[in-house]
Amino acid sequence: MFDQQLHRLTEHILYLPPDADTDRPLLAAISGEKHTLLVDAGNSSAHAELFLRELDKYPIAKPSQVVLTHGHWEHVFGAYYLNLPCIASEGTKQEIEKMQHLSWTDEALNQRVKAGIESSFSAEMIKKEWGDNRKIPIILPSMTFSERMELDLGGIHCLIEHVGGDHADDSSVVYVKEDKVLFLGDCLYPDYKGEQWRYTVEGTQALLKRLENYDADLYVLSHDIPLSKTQFRIYTDLLKLFCQITLKMHGEFEAMISALSKELGRRLEPLERLVIRYFANGVETVGARV
Ligand SMILES: [Zn+2]
Repeated sequence: MFDQQLHRLTEHILYLPPDADTDRPLLAAISGEKHTLLVDAGNSSAHAELFLRELDKYPIAKPSQVVLTHGHWEHVFGAYYLNLPCIASEGTKQEIEKMQHLSWTDEALNQRVKAGIESSFSAEMIKKEWGDNRKIPIILPSMTFSERMELDLGGIHCLIEHVGGDHADDSSVVYVKEDKVLFLGDCLYPDYKGEQWRYTVEGTQALLKRLENYDADLYVLSHDIPLSKTQFRIYTDLLKLFCQITLKMHGEFEAMISALSKELGRRLEPLERLVIRYFANGVETVGARV
């Protein structure tokens, strides 16, 4: 687990590291001379409160708006507590609308897991983060965009752009031009809606191509610590290699393991085996639909 204190990423950006214990994503604050924009609202009131309390210790403009990278619960449920104008893509607003009137009791969560609507992982994390008080207030974004939106925070410009991807159709990224930082939300993670997590070759390749358009020095994924340009290149090169191997071996798990191990000249790490499994699942899922 990473410590739960603010860290400085660049001159204009502070961030609270993610916390895997209850699936808290990384939260960030981008400050210009006039405004501070928050990236993601956190997974609960307690998470949002911790973030605001930590931000209070810094001489920056008071947070004036929050942007949501996508509509998954752990990025959204802190928005009510933040009580700020909330920006999101139209797709994200629709995702939040779907959650607004749901019940979050054990019974309701278990039922949705059983029906395949909620992952058991999310259900477990919601129970752990929110404890017994699960009357969760969910607010809708007050400003939406369909493709992109630009914000001037006072000398600091942010481009918010919808990119989609396997993880969530509604995913957006936030690019901070002057600091060359790209916030990716969860867009590069697999689709984890069902019990079988999956990556598709088509979805991964299309997303990686889109992300190449941003000239960034730092890349921020919501459930990891920030990556340098070199680290991000290693990460995306590996995803590209997974795509090639998936195509070559037609999604056959064992054949993909051997091919990747041969390509890298070593035994695979457990995480690499897991990602191969996600790509194999993607092929199987697509095949099953046809
Ligand atoms: Zn997500």
